Amino acid sequence: MDLKLLENTLAGRGEPRFRAGQVWEWTARGAGSYEEMTNLPAALREGLAGELPFSTLSLVDEALARDGTEKALFETHDGRPVEAVLMRYRDGRRSLCLSSQSGCPLTCTFCATGQMKFGRNLTASEILDQALHFRRKEEVNHAVFMGMGEPLMNLDNVLAACERLPDLGITPRRTAISTVGWIPGIKRMTQEGPPVRLALSLHAADETLRSQLMPVNERYPLPDVLEACLRWWEARRQPVFVEYLMLDGVNDRYEQAVKLAELLEPREAFKVNLIPYNPTDAAYDGSTRGAIDAFRAALEEHGVRATVRLTRGRDIDAACGQLAARNAT
Ligand code: SAH
Repeated sequence: MDLKLLENTLAGRGEPRFRAGQVWEWTARGAGSYEEMTNLPAALREGLAGELPFSTLSLVDEALARDGTEKALFETHDGRPVEAVLMRYRDGRRSLCLSSQSGCPLTCTFCATGQMKFGRNLTASEILDQALHFRRKEEVNHAVFMGMGEPLMNLDNVLAACERLPDLGITPRRTAISTVGWIPGIKRMTQEGPPVRLALSLHAADETLRSQLMPVNERYPLPDVLEACLRWWEARRQPVFVEYLMLDGVNDRYEQAVKLAELLEPREAFKVNLIPYNPTDAAYDGSTRGAIDAFRAALEEHGVRATVRLTRGRDIDAACGQLAARNAT
């Protein structure tokens, strides 16, 4: 729902200001239409239904994976594709993976989103409408900005969406923003961001290799990025979650784990999450399970905390790095 348009529409109808709050309250709790908002006068409900689309996004396609992960493909009013994912875990966790942009202007070589055409930044309402789509199905409690796009390149809208997520049941502590290392965004987050978690897509401890995998490294070199992450840790005493994609024969050797461990000082400031590679059209193979376990052991031997990410939704191309809105292109 376009929340600015909602306010304007209500003002245009001469409605009191509290009406916008009422509409939002229903919407955030999973209402599916204005009709359900029974504390609004019937004429207003009808009027809104005629004037104001209930969502800024139209649903184009949905897919359900064997593990319960669900992916939705939407289109914005100007025809831009957007994907979002709901991950369901046995312990009751319901985690949303949200997109901040349609496509992505960065061209990380291993990521399907980086290969599609960049559209534009999403508005705060377009980000929230992804979450609301799933909230209408069931209660949700976690969100990660790990869908399409680089959230720190669209920080105003991402932060505006984050301000409203608690109304859907997702607190800042249960919200994670993931970045390639967009330094101006990390700095701003450190100063004025809500108490969310910060994740850094690192993927290679070696500068040359990292630039090959992620061209953005030329603009914001790793030492500067890590410096910005340290400032975050010092200001917040919250670790930065380092994401490290495991690519067979590319970045998964023992000495590369040692090099990574050397970078992550002090130890308390970082937690590593090793990510099994999800197939895309790119010419990489994922590391074997054995190689991932060995890499993790090498990190831990050097005192670095590391976990291996559970892969979800791979059979419907809903896993990390697989969002490319194929149906829409
Ligand atoms: N642009 C931000 C937000 C997207 S997060 C960022 O890069 O952090 C998406 C995560 O999935 C990133 O950590 C990204 O590196 C990872 N990823 C990309 N392609 C992948 C793939 N094919 N398999 C597994 N993870 C991938």
